[in-house]
Amino acid sequence: MKKPYPRNAPGEFFVADGCCITCGMPVETSPEFFSWDDEKGEQDNHCFVKRQPKTDKEFESVLAAMKAADVGCIYYCGKKEDWKRRLHEAGFGDQIIKNEE
Ligand code: SF4
Repeated sequence: MKKPYPRNAPGEFFVADGCCITCGMPVETSPEFFSWDDEKGEQDNHCFVKRQPKTDKEFESVLAAMKAADVGCIYYCGKKEDWKRRLHEAGFGDQIIKNEE
């Protein structure tokens, strides 16, 4: 399984550790759910999930961040079948962590 960046809020979505090329798109697209790690310098910065989505509307915001990101750093490890289906349909099937992984 991908290793989550340590500062992700616990929950269903996470940004993978060491994935960052500082694209910045999740923070720009969905600032209520993603943040830069202020403890890092500008050169080796990293975004992370600061708050987990709870509603379908919030899920849409996270999905928009996934679509905007330059790299597939954002993963889903939850069990909501509807969200999994929508992630698949949006082309993010590889970013769904299977429960047995
Ligand atoms: S999505 Fe990936 S590359 Fe873009 S800011 Fe976040 S961790 Fe960095």
